[in-house]
Amino acid sequence: MTAALETVIGAEFLPHVRFDEPLSRHTSWHVGGPADAFYTPTSADELARFLAALPGECPVHWLGLGSNVLVRDGGLRGVVISLHLGLDRLERIGPTRVHADAGVPCARIARQCAKWLLGPAEFFAGIPGTVGGALAMNAGAWGGETWPHVVEVDVVDRRGARRTRAAGEYRYGYREVRAPAAGEWFIAVRFEFAPRPGATAETIKHLLVRRRETQPIGAWSCGSTFTNPPGDHAARLIDAAGLKGCRIGGAVVSTKHANFLINEGSATAADIERLIGYVQAEVERRHGVRLTPEVRIVGEAA
Ligand SMILES: Cc1cc2nc3c(=O)[nH]c(=O)nc-3n(C[C@H](O)[C@H](O)[C@H](O)COP(=O)(O)OP(=O)(O)OC[C@H]3O[C@@H](n4cnc5c(N)ncnc54)[C@H](O)[C@@H]3O)c2cc1C
Repeated sequence: MTAALETVIGAEFLPHVRFDEPLSRHTSWHVGGPADAFYTPTSADELARFLAALPGECPVHWLGLGSNVLVRDGGLRGVVISLHLGLDRLERIGPTRVHADAGVPCARIARQCAKWLLGPAEFFAGIPGTVGGALAMNAGAWGGETWPHVVEVDVVDRRGARRTRAAGEYRYGYREVRAPAAGEWFIAVRFEFAPRPGATAETIKHLLVRRRETQPIGAWSCGSTFTNPPGDHAARLIDAAGLKGCRIGGAVVSTKHANFLINEGSATAADIERLIGYVQAEVERRHGVRLTPEVRIVGEAA
């Protein structure tokens, strides 16, 4: 499909498109085959024009910082759209209200909101994704999560049409968001964060230290691989099944936090996917609980 895309993508967009782009460069597991085309828009207007011009049958996929996706080794057909670096406006638009483009990294929101004394945003510190990914996943940590702070979102559809939707149009739960319509993606959000003067860069530093003490930060992973089942923790179940250190190829269950599966450097996406399946099967065999992956598994096998 790459050759066909090279001819249908308009000259205006070509400076922002890479063909046959290895997605291992764009995922925190550092695995994943190529995208036929990888597009980084420089503005929402340009993105809308791009989508309107792209033939309707061409598949599109959205990627933030790739910190919650496992892209298979055969990669993704069609166009991968990444808002990171392009859509990055972060602005205080009222005493407690913040506009963030979907490409803004979560860590930047935490840091900037601490300066604005908007404490409730501090949970974003240490979540290594974008606002778009956080909205799609209802990312959360330390008792805070994304959607309770959302006032409204700007979305775009496959034909490039844009609209603003109120938070109340979405249903959300633990790492789950249900949109009112299929085929829409986030391009920006307005958050409301109550002022909390105690929140400072120190609070954030403390949260990051707590993370480093309990998680293998720096290792190639997607954070927690599975969601926690009701009333329990996936990490506890995996540990109790004796799976810490369990390995398939270059993929291994972290000995520090059992819900983190690590690429030690040589893992393929297939190694990681097989390890996910093995952990699921062993935990079910030992505890009778079927773990659900939190990570989104996409793309074609090699
Ligand atoms: C070390 C580590 C620690 C982590 N800790 C946490 C944590 O504490 N809490 C937590 O919740 N998560 C955590 N994560 C997981 C991850 O960072 C979050 O889920 C994050 O919100 C994903 O954002 P992303 O930009 O990387 O999204 P991606 O991984 O790129 O994408 C995730 C999903 O969102 C979709 N998506 C991306 N952008 C858009 C958009 N603009 N519109 C619509 N859909 C979109 C993608 O298509 C995909 O389905 C951690 C990950 C790592 C590696």
